[in-house]
Amino acid sequence: MILLEHNISLKSLNTFAIDVNAENLIAIYHEAGLFEVIAKKLCPIRILGGGSNILLTGDLVGYTLKNEIKGIEIIDEDENQIMIKVGAGEKWHQFVMWSISHNLGGIENLSLIPGSVGAAPMQNIGAYGVEQESVFHSLNAVHMANGEKKLFFKDECNFGYRESIFKKELKDQYFITHVNYILRKKDHSLQLDYGAIRDTILKNGIESPDVQNISDAVIEIRKSKLPDPNLIGNAGSFFKNPVIQKTLYHSLKNIHPEIPCYPISETTVKVPAGWLIEKSGFKGKTFNKIGVHKDQALVLVNYGGGCGKDILDLAFEIKKVVKDKFKIDIEPEVNIW
Ligand code: FAD
Ligand code: NAP
Repeated sequence: MILLEHNISLKSLNTFAIDVNAENLIAIYHEAGLFEVIAKKLCPIRILGGGSNILLTGDLVGYTLKNEIKGIEIIDEDENQIMIKVGAGEKWHQFVMWSISHNLGGIENLSLIPGSVGAAPMQNIGAYGVEQESVFHSLNAVHMANGEKKLFFKDECNFGYRESIFKKELKDQYFITHVNYILRKKDHSLQLDYGAIRDTILKNGIESPDVQNISDAVIEIRKSKLPDPNLIGNAGSFFKNPVIQKTLYHSLKNIHPEIPCYPISETTVKVPAGWLIEKSGFKGKTFNKIGVHKDQALVLVNYGGGCGKDILDLAFEIKKVVKDKFKIDIEPEVNIW
């Protein structure tokens, strides 16, 4: 039997700490519970992980499934690498900590990202020059309409920059139950050349860093720059960094010589959305109970008691001003519910 709760506040289940209700909340601990829900043909259904990449703009009608499928299981290994099947309801950061404690390499740069393992492939989480696709092997999912089980391999997931097939063509169709990753047991290929990682490691007096040192450095940097959702409600980067044509970039550079960019292809570059928002005058601005973070303009915040609609209105306003000033469209990374 599944456990159903009615009219439950979701305030503690989303990192923006928006206080809206779920009409019905169902915890899913294993596939059997999921099949029970599918057999009942409940509708509409939402899938909730750690709530760290959603903005709730009102009460959720219908059925909200809270993913609690746990477990970390080694399913194959040789002397070089190991394949691990992870329950989608495991916390991503705890999985990273587990891998570090076993000296496994591949996801150390992805330390301290909130949320669940099941949501990691959704937007192909990334940070400090690494994306989860670099260690992804496959995932197990169940179709929410017909209950069919499917194993998705990497080439079927269309991973891109904060994108996957599950955020686009197959949006809301599959419940991801497990994700299978391949991590290195030795000869770790460490990624230090991003942001302040190398400098932080040197500052800590480490000459030959290992996965633990990199994870520690990433955690230290993140704690110093990003608001802790336990203290200030937020969902990380609200917008994706836009990729624009080089021609537009060069015309903007004539007006704003300091505009930063990172090469993407021969004809395109990525511009940090945080810079665009800061130059549009929003950094550190507060609007009643909500605002734009003082250190990172890409992060919208709820100081307490803010509502999702107000945050969405602020996001629209930011998008409009950035478009008027730079002729660049910025799109939300956060899922709007
Ligand atoms: P939720 O917010 O619960 O859900 C997100 C979406 O995925 C929803 O559409 C939901 O329906 C769907 N979903 C969730 N679980 C499943 C499932 N099992 N099956 C099918 N669909 C599912 N992201 C990065 O990429 N890099 C970062 O460095 C990063 N840093 C962050 C820092 C902070 C402080 C915060 C608050 C967020 C950050 N994020 C970052 C965003 C967020 O943590 C990730 O996107 C994370 O993967 C979301 O996981 P979640 O379980 O909270 O997903
Ligand atoms: P940062 O280091 O101040 O850099 C600002 C932006 O410039 C980042 O968005 C990053 O793009 C880009 N950038 C920096 N160095 C780069 C390089 N060497 N090559 C390509 N692009 C580069 O960013 P931050 O805010 O402190 O975040 C650090 C990392 O954590 C970033 O990777 C960021 O994506 C990730 N993060 C993500 C979220 C989220 O919610 N998605 C929240 C917090 C942090 P990329 O974003 O493409 O890396």
